[in-house]
Amino acid sequence: MTTALVWFRRDLRLHDNEALREAAAADRLLPVYVVDPREYGTRPYGGTASFRFEKTGPHRVRFRCEALSDLRASLRERDSDLVVREGRPEEVLPDLARAVDADEVTMHTWPAPEERAVEARVNARLRDRGVAVRRFWGHTLYHVNDLPTAYTEIPDTYTPFRKSVERDASVRDPLGTPSLPPLPGVVRDGSDRSGDDRSDRSGDDGAVRPGDVPTPATLLADDGAIDVAQSPDPHGRGVLSFRGGESAALARVRSYLWDDDRLREYKETRNGLLGEGYSSKLSPWLNEGCLSPRYVHREVQRYEDERVKNESTYWLVFELRWRDFFQFQVAKHRGQFFSRPGIRERDDIDWRDDDRAFERWARGETGIPFVDANVRELNETGFMSNRGRQNVASFCANDLRLDWRRGAAYFETKLVDYDPCSNYGNWAYIAGVGNDSRDRSFDVLGQARKYDPDAAYVTHWLPELDPLPPEYAHEPWRMSDAEQAEHGVELGVDYPEPMVDPDLDLDYSENR
Ligand code: FAD
Repeated sequence: MTTALVWFRRDLRLHDNEALREAAAADRLLPVYVVDPREYGTRPYGGTASFRFEKTGPHRVRFRCEALSDLRASLRERDSDLVVREGRPEEVLPDLARAVDADEVTMHTWPAPEERAVEARVNARLRDRGVAVRRFWGHTLYHVNDLPTAYTEIPDTYTPFRKSVERDASVRDPLGTPSLPPLPGVVRDGSDRSGDDRSDRSGDDGAVRPGDVPTPATLLADDGAIDVAQSPDPHGRGVLSFRGGESAALARVRSYLWDDDRLREYKETRNGLLGEGYSSKLSPWLNEGCLSPRYVHREVQRYEDERVKNESTYWLVFELRWRDFFQFQVAKHRGQFFSRPGIRERDDIDWRDDDRAFERWARGETGIPFVDANVRELNETGFMSNRGRQNVASFCANDLRLDWRRGAAYFETKLVDYDPCSNYGNWAYIAGVGNDSRDRSFDVLGQARKYDPDAAYVTHWLPELDPLPPEYAHEPWRMSDAEQAEHGVELGVDYPEPMVDPDLDLDYSENR
């Protein structure tokens, strides 16, 4: 009789989950999730006391709690359960492994330093206790072992990486959902919820209790944050109400590709700003692991067979390759990827440390409407379009010259789809310290005029600018006093004065 424990991390799904599938070959299986307190609460950034940030903000906390509830429900439907514990995985997992007499623990592995550090401690403790550990790579399109070269040898720029995988690698088929063996006998069945389901300790009978799935209120510290978590988009202005979990992830794939048939025009619409259909919006599910990129890939292939194969279908996979690229870059460069000089070791940039400027940027009060509208969308909903992220990040890093890692840490708090590799990778890229040696500054005003020509987006998020014609909604500082009076929008009262001189500072060539 063999017993396995599967440790769920950012792989909150049953489909295409190799750690689960391998563990399911045992006679008995204990699925576990550990709520690690180190992932919540505020902390100083980079060891500096001056700036503290919330590690996981309300939007992602809510999403994760929903994903856990969904995973538990799916496991219970299969006569299994999700045992949930709060604590450090390196302490919790060996205890649980002992309680159920586990022979082995399976888990997925990720390349970012914090995740690796936890994993290393877990491995060491389990092995000390004679429990076998098996780790799997499962969050990218291409398996790390299928890359044309070792990950340590991959190019540092995207195009050669993309060309090499397109030419010399293939995407594995997604694994199906396995049938699950029973829980170890000492686990009290989670379907009996009449009793003391709250206790996460072993009971007098020696049973392992399922424990509670956390709620946003238990994971977030201050009251304001809890409000947002419970009502993610209080004004209903967001592009989509992102609901956590594998069920919602599969439903989103279904609606975007099949029901709404949006994939056929993805390449033309992907730079949009308003509405759910301009891009796939799959990122939150991909990053919490509710959705496997290989599953998405297979669905795109099926769509190409059954509906249409065109540039748009290629381009969605092209973007998933960007996601892969940053994962493998972090695997290659480790901690240096997150350092201020970055992988290009740039020590020639004079980064500023200006709290007041940073706060204006983070509150969406820079006085540059295209930046402010995007930041307010992020703050309110946890999401921002790719076009928005590029401009907001460029304004922070290139126009304000604020330490790019502080902006990235702010995104880390707020984004519902935060991923360390994609987030810090894109920020470093735009800040000029990452995977591209070209100037990646964005002409924010030019971008605003191009991508929001009628100012529908800025006025959606900045209703105070609604009375203005589009050219003034993007550049309200151009109004004379008389025009401000005429439109009922007074600069410095109804909307901030710009914090930089737009004519001098926002004049860069356009990018990607
Ligand atoms: P789609 O346009 O539908 O793309 C499909 C998928 O491809 C996305 O879900 C995503 O997984 C992947 N993808 C697309 N563009 C990129 C990219 N540039 N880099 C990596 N993967 C990409 N994406 C995250 O998933 N998490 C982050 O924390 C994150 N932070 C970012 C920070 C900055 C400063 C910038 C410029 C971009 C960031 N991105 C991040 C990438 C991109 O903006 C989002 O993946 C995308 O907007 C998510 O929306 P979507 O799912 O509709 O994307």
